[in-house]
Amino acid sequence: MMREMSVEQKLSSNKFHVDEGFAHIEVDKDASRDDIVRLAKLCPAGLYALDDHDRLAFDYAGCLECGTCLVASKGVVVRSWDYPRGGMGVEFRLG
Ligand code: SF4
Repeated sequence: MMREMSVEQKLSSNKFHVDEGFAHIEVDKDASRDDIVRLAKLCPAGLYALDDHDRLAFDYAGCLECGTCLVASKGVVVRSWDYPRGGMGVEFRLG
């Protein structure tokens, strides 16, 4: 019988082609704590977090390109959102 994989195991199977020359998501580093926490709860890749000074810690590497942060930020935090350039970004291995 095949063992079910956890979400973390499935996510770890993805491959990322990080485009160092193009940040496809740009964020407001001065966003409020509440706005950051809201996105931290929603981002399936866990890319939004508070640093030791309650400021936004974010890195687009590891993005799953789901668009959740764009919709949920309601015009704050996410300043611009686009897909990575062709051939870059996430490569899903398990669909
Ligand atoms: S697009 Fe999805 S995975 Fe990427 S940073 Fe936004 S919420 Fe996270």
